[in-house]
Amino acid sequence: MAARRETGWTYPLALPPAMPAPAGTLASLRRKAGRCRACPLWQQATRTVFGVGAPDADMMLVGEQPGDREDLAGKPFVGPAGALLDRALAAAGLDRGQLYVTNAVKHFKFGLHGKRRLNQRANAREQAICRQWLAAELREVRPTRVLALGAMAAKAAFGPAFRLTAQHGQWLPLPGGVWGMATWHPSAILRSPGERERRLAELTGDLQRFAAGPAR
Ligand code: SF4
Repeated sequence: MAARRETGWTYPLALPPAMPAPAGTLASLRRKAGRCRACPLWQQATRTVFGVGAPDADMMLVGEQPGDREDLAGKPFVGPAGALLDRALAAAGLDRGQLYVTNAVKHFKFGLHGKRRLNQRANAREQAICRQWLAAELREVRPTRVLALGAMAAKAAFGPAFRLTAQHGQWLPLPGGVWGMATWHPSAILRSPGERERRLAELTGDLQRFAAGPAR
């Protein structure tokens, strides 16, 4: 994989970061992100939730932002959403050991309802500032396939006009020879009891297409 890093690199997503991607290896980026104060979201969160997984993975999964469980654990996709993702990955013949898994935004944003911390969506400026870390992860890992989980990640990858309902599961070319696809976020599936089985089947089918790779 070092050979891949010797060649030029093109940022592959439609929406650019508002700040330059920090330099460094994944390990040093993780440490730097742990001290990030570039937007206000660090103030109420417990810790930065940086990406995890194979440092030279061909396939990168990009979720939206950490939730309550991820904030406490410091890892993306844990708790019920992580369990649902693991179930769908297994059905598609994938396991996390072959993937790099991260989020578009690295700190948990929430509002208090009594003692419960309920997710709030990072705004466009917070997303744009935080994309510096996703850009740095993409530069270091250099995946050839990127799967966006949820609308926030899908719009970052393919632009604001992207519609998950109509376009999930479609391979789309991204800059730099990268191929991208978007699908449902497991949390969104858990929040939609009436559509849970249908969307879980769609997530699994999309993951199977993602694992198979684009037809060239
Ligand atoms: S959300 Fe992102 S940009 Fe904002 S403080 Fe956290 S790591 Fe930095």
